[in-house]
Amino acid sequence: MSRLQQVTVLGATGSVGLSALDVIARHPDRYQVFALTGFTRLAELLALCVRHAPRFAVVPEAAAARGLQDDLRAAGLATRVLVGEEGLCQVSADAEVDTVVAAIVGAAGLRPTLAAVDAGKKILLANKEALVMSGALFMQAVRKSGAVLLPLDSEHNAIFQCMPGDYARGLSQVGVRRILLTASGGPFRQTPLAELEHVSPDQACAHPNWSMGRKISVDSASMMNKGLELIEACWLFDARPDQVEVVIHPQSVIHSLVDYVDGSVLAQLGNPDMRTPIANALAWPERIDSGVAPLDLFAVARLDFEAPDEQRFPCLRLARQVAQAGDSAPAMLNAANEVAVAAFLDGRIRFPQIASIIEDVLQREPVVAVDELAAVFEADSKARALAEQWLGRNAR
Ligand code: NDP
Ligand code: MG
Repeated sequence: MSRLQQVTVLGATGSVGLSALDVIARHPDRYQVFALTGFTRLAELLALCVRHAPRFAVVPEAAAARGLQDDLRAAGLATRVLVGEEGLCQVSADAEVDTVVAAIVGAAGLRPTLAAVDAGKKILLANKEALVMSGALFMQAVRKSGAVLLPLDSEHNAIFQCMPGDYARGLSQVGVRRILLTASGGPFRQTPLAELEHVSPDQACAHPNWSMGRKISVDSASMMNKGLELIEACWLFDARPDQVEVVIHPQSVIHSLVDYVDGSVLAQLGNPDMRTPIANALAWPERIDSGVAPLDLFAVARLDFEAPDEQRFPCLRLARQVAQAGDSAPAMLNAANEVAVAAFLDGRIRFPQIASIIEDVLQREPVVAVDELAAVFEADSKARALAEQWLGRNAR
């Protein structure tokens, strides 16, 4: 490799951001951290800056920026602190940056991720909400700029690894029949339905196999995460929703599969550790050490599969409806879900009400065409307002 790859990590203080920095730090001969961004965990951001000495750090507002800038100077670092969405877009699009790890959670990541896309960067996408919201426009922007979009989501990274190199020609052209998207089923796969009324945020966040941020953990418990991933897979691999089948696989060892017309089914397996897809995407098409222990099949012993139950997981049904509807529907679903999950984490609603809010919002607002980004943000704010109205009427 001729020179060090310059990497911006959006959402560096989060679960995916920290895993990415762990892999990056294992390969100082390949990667250098260009910028790190944080939102609320600013003491952690300072510690990460001390460890990785980035050129830039980004925080949400000016007072926090002044504080961090003083601390960095006191630590003898030349890191410059930038502010807000403008700062995020700047460190995504800077001419010196090669790779952007998009690991902000939720709609807040859309503009910074698109800034990296428009600048033609290599983008390692964890922030699935950005793609779900703006799918057609996002993929159009990737084609226009020639950006290289690589999935970090473990399932999509697995699918990517099981696809032939020329899958962009079209799934039927390359002999792919179906994508099998695996799901653990989360912490409530076997909880009696009546008990779901009483589960706490901490119970929802106690994922059996993965350690993740709180929003995606609740999404995993409701299986909205799999719904978002279904939509994500359709955009990344140009698949129709009916070509993506969700398979519950409680061990989370097979990260997804690709089913070919000749009857071959290719799977990617590994320990559930985000450093594997991160290392895969960072070094692609090469392979590098990720720090993940080798898979011990004797310890795993068995692999189970079952069909998802849409009565238990209505969010999955709603996401599939929205995937078929297209246009503004996915942005509305995503926004309503973000409001509902935040309300659940705040103790304002019960777990099953997450799906009730989303269904109510989708029923109230018609699907409209989205041919520009403004329409995506309009659908997003309409859905947020409707979800807030629901909370006003119904929250305990
Ligand atoms: P975390 O909550 O752990 O981290 C989120 C990151 O985004 C943090 O750095 C946080 O900053 C930052 N952030 C939050 N809100 C804003 C905002 N409004 N503006 C700017 N930055 C913000 O989440 P995860 O790391 O778990 O997930 C990140 C993304 O990756 C999500 O889209 C998730 O769906 C996806 N993903 C995660 C996986 C996982 O294993 N965790 C697996 C697959 C996908 P701070 O912490 O300083 O507040
Ligand atoms: Mg996933």
